[in-house]
Amino acid sequence: MKSTLIKNGTIVTASDEYVGDVFMKDGKIEMVGQGLDVTADEVVDATGKYVMPGGVDQHTHFLFKMDDSRCVGWESSAAAVCGGTTTVVDFVNQEVGKSLKESVENYERDEVGDLACCDYAFHTVVYDPTDELFEEIKKLPEYGITSVKLFMAYKGQAYHMEDGSVLRALQSAKEAGVTIMVHAENAEMIATLQQQTMDAGITGPYGHAVSRPPIVEEEAVKRAACLAELADAPIYIVHVTAKGAMEAIRDAYAKGVKIFGETCTHYLTVKTDVLKSTSPENGEFEGAKYVCSPALRSQEHIDAMWEAIRKGWLNAVSSDHCAFNFEEHKKRGLGDFRKIPNGCAGVENRMQMVWTYGVETGKISKQQFVELCCTNPAKINGIYPQKGTLAPGSDADVLIYDPNGESTITMATSHHKTDYEPFEGWKVKGRPSKVYLRGELVVEDSQYVGKEGTGKFVAGKPFGLAYQK
Ligand SMILES: [Zn+2]
Repeated sequence: MKSTLIKNGTIVTASDEYVGDVFMKDGKIEMVGQGLDVTADEVVDATGKYVMPGGVDQHTHFLFKMDDSRCVGWESSAAAVCGGTTTVVDFVNQEVGKSLKESVENYERDEVGDLACCDYAFHTVVYDPTDELFEEIKKLPEYGITSVKLFMAYKGQAYHMEDGSVLRALQSAKEAGVTIMVHAENAEMIATLQQQTMDAGITGPYGHAVSRPPIVEEEAVKRAACLAELADAPIYIVHVTAKGAMEAIRDAYAKGVKIFGETCTHYLTVKTDVLKSTSPENGEFEGAKYVCSPALRSQEHIDAMWEAIRKGWLNAVSSDHCAFNFEEHKKRGLGDFRKIPNGCAGVENRMQMVWTYGVETGKISKQQFVELCCTNPAKINGIYPQKGTLAPGSDADVLIYDPNGESTITMATSHHKTDYEPFEGWKVKGRPSKVYLRGELVVEDSQYVGKEGTGKFVAGKPFGLAYQK
């Protein structure tokens, strides 16, 4: 394999920023430093650009089924690298009656197949909480899997888990160094509020937010903290959106509970009001484009999420990419917001949005950007330092970001392969100029130039970040 020398870029890691060079060979980073004196097959001048680790998005659903809807799958994974993300940690749902191992093997063979354009690790999601399942959690690190997610929300769905199952999962995971992740929303409160909202005649997309107020999340996070304390095991709260939920994590952690959390791009940027959007074609159903769970929040909560990532109370920003289409999927909820599939595309937009609205506005530093979007997600999932940093021996996953220029997110230039873009019309500053995946150039000027199927599985090691404090 050939070698590449990236010269004179501004190297940014979670701890540093300096003008220097990166030398990569045989898919690995060999040297990082100033004025490197080496011969390379190819020399790339990165003057005036930022050279950063490829992004790690620890929360994607390249396949999710809700009722009869099935989101856009791995055929759109070029979107990840086009947005600067070279590794995703994707959720694999357990097949009822099957082990986690078998579910993962089936998923990798049938869904990922030879379509992956980015590297990938897996989380598993519990659907069938049997005695065997809780035993199997202890063995997951043998398969390179180090996290298990349970849904506290979604009453009536197979994947809804009672507190007893969360507790048992925490107990099983602890000795093996497996991180338990939870979607924390109170399922009972939501089911009751949904019915009352429907009965009050609010049947459109805005009913989604009305029936999932911030307190349903806050309550479940507090309960999750108690379960983690009881089990004396770490717990990770995915997609935190509410100020009260964030404060509950911060305060429980200060008290000694091993509780951690992430937020997502859209909870840092998009307000609840979009659920009330209208359009000539879709009327008030236009808002269905923004139905995801937890629901989008008001500015007060958005501000709280920025404060949380700036101060380290939440330690990662993910996309929660779950690419449902509008015509085929979202429209199943016409007349009943409860039937609108929850989820939106976003893997391509995460780094550009966080850069624009975080770094460019001075809310977070460039080092924090790398920490939140690359380094911490790699540490949490046990794939650091192979992924998430620029260091000798790490995979040569490199993002060269050109901070100049402004563009607008729009479906015409998107790689999500969906029929609408949730961030349509948002202005972004800069763009991925080049992206390398294990030393191979896969993106040039925001266009995919790689080969489908180059993405590989990355095995995670147990006892990730949640275990280290
Ligand atoms: Zn999710």
